[in-house]
Amino acid sequence: MQRGVILTGGGHGIGKQICLDFLAAGDKVCFMDFDEKHSSEFAAQHTDLFYYCGDVANPERLKEFVDFAMERLQRIDVLVNNACRGNHGILSDLDYNGFDYVLSVGLKAPYELSRLCKDELIKNRGRIINIASSRAFQSEPDSEAYASAKGGIVALTHALAISLGPDVLVNCIAPGWINVSAQEDYTQTDKAAIPAGKVGNPNDISSMVMYLCNHDFLTGETITIDGGMNKRMIYHGDWNWQYHTD
Ligand code: NAD
Repeated sequence: MQRGVILTGGGHGIGKQICLDFLAAGDKVCFMDFDEKHSSEFAAQHTDLFYYCGDVANPERLKEFVDFAMERLQRIDVLVNNACRGNHGILSDLDYNGFDYVLSVGLKAPYELSRLCKDELIKNRGRIINIASSRAFQSEPDSEAYASAKGGIVALTHALAISLGPDVLVNCIAPGWINVSAQEDYTQTDKAAIPAGKVGNPNDISSMVMYLCNHDFLTGETITIDGGMNKRMIYHGDWNWQYHTD
């Protein structure tokens, strides 16, 4: 069966690879993205790929996106909430509106799209896949907005799983460092610091999206894919780890 897949942030990076994987599986995909240039070029390359231009922080555009997708796909089986971007935090004096914008993109939009797609997803016994971050669980300084959005989407995932199950299975992926640029923007030492010995690539995440969409006994979970970074214990002076204060 050809599934109808809708996704946010499909014009670049992880979202683009997720689109490609669903297309390769024979599905129809409609994505929303505010980067019109890259997104329309990408959509023009595939007959079963449809693009809607808009900012997911705007709830009116979300409703238009779902209507647009239904016209093109005729059905919605999978919703992937992928779009998000960081915006610093308290050390940069990020204000109320700046904080709220990140929550609108990374948390309110996933809720609203889940609500708008609920009846279709229930009818089709569908899936919701949310993209969080390992920053839902670990922080660097000055990252409050992004960490809050990502922590929120982890909680949203289990709440939706309980509300919408057993008809809709809802899971989340928390990526670590994923290289989304054409170049390798990292060093050999960066790679060596990650227990898996590499920086991730978009396929490391999209393959899990596909796996979750074909699994029927997983729901409410968040799966961390970070090459083991969150499992490494670091103490200054042990195993060559050095904390520099300068
Ligand atoms: P990316 O910047 O390469 O691509 C994101 C896409 O989403 C872009 O096409 C962008 O235009 C679009 N987008 C962003 N904000 C939008 C908005 N408000 N409205 C509409 N479109 C919007 O990003 P990525 O690295 O592929 O990240 C994808 C997801 O993975 C995000 O949720 C991100 O937080 C998460 N993530 C990424 C990494 C990483 O290292 N790349 C790590 C952890 C989590």
